[in-house]
Amino acid sequence: MPVTVRADLASLPDYIAGRKVPGAVILSSNELSGPPPEAILAAVAEAAADVNRYPAMGADDLLDKTAEHFGLDRPRLAVGCGSVSLCQQLVQATCEPGDEVIFGWRSFEAYPIVTQIAMATGVRVPLTPAQGLDLEGMLAAVTDRTRLLFVSNPNNPTGTALRTAELTAFLDRVPENVLVVLDEAYREFVTDEDVPDGFTFLDRQNVAVLRTFSKAYALAGIRLGFLAASLDVAAGVRKVGIPFSVNRIAQAAGIAAMAATPELLARCAEVTAERTRVHDALLEMGYDVPASQANFVWLPLGEKTAEFNEHCLDQRVVIRAFAGEGVRATVGLPAENDAFLAAAKSFQH
Ligand code: PMP
Repeated sequence: MPVTVRADLASLPDYIAGRKVPGAVILSSNELSGPPPEAILAAVAEAAADVNRYPAMGADDLLDKTAEHFGLDRPRLAVGCGSVSLCQQLVQATCEPGDEVIFGWRSFEAYPIVTQIAMATGVRVPLTPAQGLDLEGMLAAVTDRTRLLFVSNPNNPTGTALRTAELTAFLDRVPENVLVVLDEAYREFVTDEDVPDGFTFLDRQNVAVLRTFSKAYALAGIRLGFLAASLDVAAGVRKVGIPFSVNRIAQAAGIAAMAATPELLARCAEVTAERTRVHDALLEMGYDVPASQANFVWLPLGEKTAEFNEHCLDQRVVIRAFAGEGVRATVGLPAENDAFLAAAKSFQH
């Protein structure tokens, strides 16, 4: 008998990364366009000199700086190899096989994947007609087996965001044994003051907040994210993590990125100004585009999705297509956005 892998892995969807098209405009993975700040590159080079040595096991300096920078309690933090890794660790730390994890759909594509890998059961709650998370629907989906709820705010890929009153009312109603994970990968691009900062909910023991260094902090290639949660949840997440998965270079880069915050936030402000320009231009062209609080826009094109995507590729613009549903385009530098808008304009929709 040959070695076999788990039969259920055959149905596990692949995580789809952006297509690599040399020389094209890349607007497929919600990264920050333009080169990373010099100080980050210098810190990476310095850390690289010691790559024959293991990194600090507890990522001590990185955790100290993260706690200080964000005003958080250090023992309640965990760092991971990208926040996607922390998503998986959260499911592993809270769910027994067959326990349920609820998320909106469509939302971040890794939620069902990490759920299944951890042998839990994913429960998808369709978005509202306005492409937002359906909090009522998510509450209605809670059962005795529910252990965790992922709330992407703003939601990837639709860019829609939940406001303070609705999120607070929702948290008030979630059973206290169900962990609500506020995934704020795009927090730095939020401009609506009524979209709450998840850290303000950390007085609730069943709330965890996820942040990443991949977007506003320009470190997508480094793989670094962090979690703030209750002491017990943070400890559980650290326990199931792979030792040393936040490597020496990532630790140094994260510290340098926090120190470069003014420069990075200025770039985020350029992105959000561009977001308004891209959104308005698309509306003018007759596209349906929900208001976005993230660094991307969503075009619910339905059956025209594949055709639109091919058209953009022909114009050497790489965006992200979700078959039969729509496309997501990252907001990049003005010239990149111009290339995308030109492609959208020349598409017959
Ligand atoms: N959460 C959301 C909502 C995301 O969109 C992403 C990246 N696409 C992540 C988490 C993961 O980011 P990373 O693993 O790069 O930190």
